[in-house]
Amino acid sequence: MSKFYDVIIAGGGVIGASCAYQLSKRKDLKVAVIDAKRPGNATRASAGGLWAIGESVGLGCGVIFFRMMSASRKRETQGAAVAVDASTPHILPESFFDFALQSNALYPALHRELKDNHGMDFKFEKTGLKFVIYDDEDRLYAEHIVSCIPHLADQVRWLDQAELRESEPSVSHEARGALEFLCDHQVSPFRLADAYAEGARQNGVDFYVNTNVTGVLHHGSRVTGVQTAEQGVFHCKTLINASGAWAADLSEWATGIRIPVKPVKGQILLTERMPKILNGCLTTSDCYVAQKDNGEILIGSTTEDKGFDVTTTYPEIAGLVQGAVRCLPELKDVNLKRTWAGLRPGSPDELPILGPMRGVEGYLNACGHFRTGILTSAITGVLLDKLVNDEPLPLDITPFLADRFEVAPVEAERMLEPA
Ligand SMILES: Cc1cc2nc3c(=O)[nH]c(=O)nc-3n(C[C@H](O)[C@H](O)[C@H](O)COP(=O)(O)OP(=O)(O)OC[C@H]3O[C@@H](n4cnc5c(N)ncnc54)[C@H](O)[C@@H]3O)c2cc1C
Repeated sequence: MSKFYDVIIAGGGVIGASCAYQLSKRKDLKVAVIDAKRPGNATRASAGGLWAIGESVGLGCGVIFFRMMSASRKRETQGAAVAVDASTPHILPESFFDFALQSNALYPALHRELKDNHGMDFKFEKTGLKFVIYDDEDRLYAEHIVSCIPHLADQVRWLDQAELRESEPSVSHEARGALEFLCDHQVSPFRLADAYAEGARQNGVDFYVNTNVTGVLHHGSRVTGVQTAEQGVFHCKTLINASGAWAADLSEWATGIRIPVKPVKGQILLTERMPKILNGCLTTSDCYVAQKDNGEILIGSTTEDKGFDVTTTYPEIAGLVQGAVRCLPELKDVNLKRTWAGLRPGSPDELPILGPMRGVEGYLNACGHFRTGILTSAITGVLLDKLVNDEPLPLDITPFLADRFEVAPVEAERMLEPA
């Protein structure tokens, strides 16, 4: 039997759940989330860093990413005498800073709201993020970052070796100091997604899990619903594409255009719980380390172009472990609890893909959040709610529209609704 909704959200990761939560507060909208529960869901793999400045300047997995790219470019260009400067940070555009910082600023109130109104605590912790400096290359990298963000000077603090050891006594003596980002904090990513979903559920949103969207229905240029493998047809006025690393399929079915979202694999590992050895989150040129509220320590993460593969592999996990033990020597005595991998929804310019697409009505993108979907889920939910309800937006989404990419339409097989 067909089901009718105002809004259908395809994908129930942190982005789909945040959109559902914001829309659920409207009361007059009938909303459903359809999620396939695919292995590799990025939300369940994440570290939960709200590293608004850190990620915008290329830290977190960005350092690893950039240096990996530099290393491979070095290999590619061997013999061509092209110098690659691995000490140059990978700074994202101004529009991303605004997006990330606005999202970050929403967390304290969102945390209270979900806790007080829905009994869900996603463990928002004010930790700061410290980029640990081991050598001259790290210091140059950090100095370059600071020179690129003069407008955020009050959010950045240099720590010399003594100050670093005072604030983080467990950090290795090898560390010469750190650059700290004061507004970069952390949450539990699983609890955040669960909190959005539970808030939405309590406000009346329907969730269909283990349900695959397999096609999109149209009437002329308007999207009118989806076909699912398990639950038949769903009709809707608006379809939101929040299907993470799989978003290109849904956009093709909906619009005839494959948006350029592709999976970027990240491996990560978790230790058994330890007494509190960290006051804040740390990132180095090898890895990042975050002790969660229950004492377990997350060590992440790789950045790999391996398609939809979600295996964990010895060299990559060993590399992360070595990086973490170098930074926090007492980790050598702790057991690993689990290793896993997730698929970040990557886009070519590392910016999310949000909002409508030219020539198609009733369809909105909420995808391509790459390595910052936990951080930017809060503002994404707010934006998508306002787009659905045709209200003014708190920020300009032009830099995030899919139309910025030159992608040719593909001959998609369209499922037409009877007129
Ligand atoms: C190792 C790792 C560490 C990370 N650390 C951080 C961090 O510290 N901070 C941060 O901000 N971000 C981090 N990220 C990135 C963050 O996890 C992602 O950006 C975010 O989770 C993306 O959320 P999403 O909802 O778009 O995708 P997902 O969480 O992948 O959810 C997409 C959902 O869509 C469903 N789906 C797909 N296709 C269909 C279909 N056809 N029908 C029905 N359902 C479908 C899937 O089953 C899936 O559940 C990390 C990612 C990884 C891998």
